[in-house]
Amino acid sequence: MVFFYKMVTTPSHRQFRLGPERCAGMATGDFFRNFSGIALSNLSILRSAGSSLSSSSIKRDMSKVDSEGQLDPAAADLNGGRSGPGQGARRQTLAQVEIPAEAVRALPADFVKQRRILPLALRDGTIEIATAEPGNRQVIEDIRLLTGLEVGETEVPAGEILEKLAQCYQMTVEKMIEDLNPEGAAAAEGKNLHDIEVMANEPTVINLVNLIISEAIRDRASDIHIVPFEDTMQLRYRIDGLLQENPPPSKQLHAALISRIKIMADMNIAERYLPQDGHIQINHRGVRVDIRVGTLPTIYGEAMVLRLLEKNAKFLTAQELGLDEERTALLYGLVQKPHGLFLATGPTGSGKTTTLYSILKTVYTPEKKIVTIEDPVEYELPGVAQIPVRPTRNFTFANGLRSILRQDPDMIMVGEIRDSETAEIAIRAALTGHQVFSTLHTNDSTGAVTRLLDMGVEAFLISSSLEGVLAQRLVRRICAQCKTPAPVQPAIRERLESLGGARVEGTFYAGRGCEECRNTGYRGRIGIFELLAIDTEMKELILQKRSNAELKATAQRGMLTMHQDAIRKAVAGITSLEEILRVSSGDLLE
Ligand SMILES: [Zn+2]
Repeated sequence: MVFFYKMVTTPSHRQFRLGPERCAGMATGDFFRNFSGIALSNLSILRSAGSSLSSSSIKRDMSKVDSEGQLDPAAADLNGGRSGPGQGARRQTLAQVEIPAEAVRALPADFVKQRRILPLALRDGTIEIATAEPGNRQVIEDIRLLTGLEVGETEVPAGEILEKLAQCYQMTVEKMIEDLNPEGAAAAEGKNLHDIEVMANEPTVINLVNLIISEAIRDRASDIHIVPFEDTMQLRYRIDGLLQENPPPSKQLHAALISRIKIMADMNIAERYLPQDGHIQINHRGVRVDIRVGTLPTIYGEAMVLRLLEKNAKFLTAQELGLDEERTALLYGLVQKPHGLFLATGPTGSGKTTTLYSILKTVYTPEKKIVTIEDPVEYELPGVAQIPVRPTRNFTFANGLRSILRQDPDMIMVGEIRDSETAEIAIRAALTGHQVFSTLHTNDSTGAVTRLLDMGVEAFLISSSLEGVLAQRLVRRICAQCKTPAPVQPAIRERLESLGGARVEGTFYAGRGCEECRNTGYRGRIGIFELLAIDTEMKELILQKRSNAELKATAQRGMLTMHQDAIRKAVAGITSLEEILRVSSGDLLE
């Protein structure tokens, strides 16, 4: 597992990584005991300051008496070089102090660097830090959130802190980046995996977050969901369209976990009562993964969703998406006409955008100008100008599309037609010499016509512009590792036959469940499609504003329906009948 993150806005953070080994192990001696003893005694005052956040109550008494009442010369030295009662003792600076590994691990490296603080020790529910500016409420509050501990402060000159930070963090950072960077350590993959596992077993928030994200990527999750409840926290991954529960960290770690992700996403960790959006970019095995982070305050704390987008994901061909050869040929006949409207339809998460990307990728040539307008841009297409809508600035699909038309495009992809204005502009563009691609939320192919009519688009405009509609759903593929022939339950056979009219016969398969598929029996997904080519007969029916039932009846005479396609894929052992029933249980098969 090769994995590291970087903050997008502050690349300098990359040079600081958690690396406790450098500081740990060398530490010993009376000095440290004395040192932390003092810090603790100072801290008892600051602890209350940290909790009540009454700065006037922060009384900085750099006492030279440690918690056992012993005199401590080091404290005096550290706090301004006074000699006090410990006269004659060596003068010690922070550089000579050994910081225990557990203290180094307690706070994220980028956080301590940003705030110029250094964790000194963990003791009795308190984290002691060195800071040049004690009494900073924000810092105290942030540390309490990140660690769940009370905060004690010891004043140390900034220069000393920076020097010590470098000593504690930087040396191992380089090593860590080297270990984790795929270019730098191609041969060390096994070791990296081991390192990550070792790290993951350490009870630190940073490692926890890294592990959650790297596991999600490994398991091909599209989203990570973190939801707090009264005493528990829920951690789920969306894999192949379904949420799967993961063993959650304890609720005590919730605030720290959320804060850590917020730091990575450049969000405000102090704001916990309003929704926020952020963005993290990571490299995973040389692949760039963009993570869109959103928070929502619930009564038990902030819920968070991380959406993982693989920026340079491999584009699938129509056949890899699940279209057979015959229909692939029909599809490319339709989309390579010089102008017209082509629609992909289905509910959210049915893979229609992926299909359009695949089509654009295939039809793209440098002689054609392709412009897309999307919400948001999910994948980057080489050679294609991609424009995100910005509704907050009133840059919508409709007015974005108008501007695109002035850019002399040959092909336009509109992420989604949601309103009549966008529909009108898209159709007029299709009628004036452009190839227009878009998506609609409809259940089946002919439903697209009905939807456009409902939006108020004139029937003659639809009939003269619409070239084809590809309706689709995604079904999970049976896991290749644990696939086995499965007898058909009579109830399922009956249900499927009554739903779609297709005969359910032959040998069917299912997954027993194994490690490879997280015991689900499925791994990956494939599309089931119905491709409607708008021929002369269909154009006439659209012009006459016939009902969806009539359009459908006519369409089905020469078209493989989604249901028939699904049954074919079950017979071929790609998916299971149970899966088809699950996907069909909504509105697919009427
Ligand atoms: Zn399996």
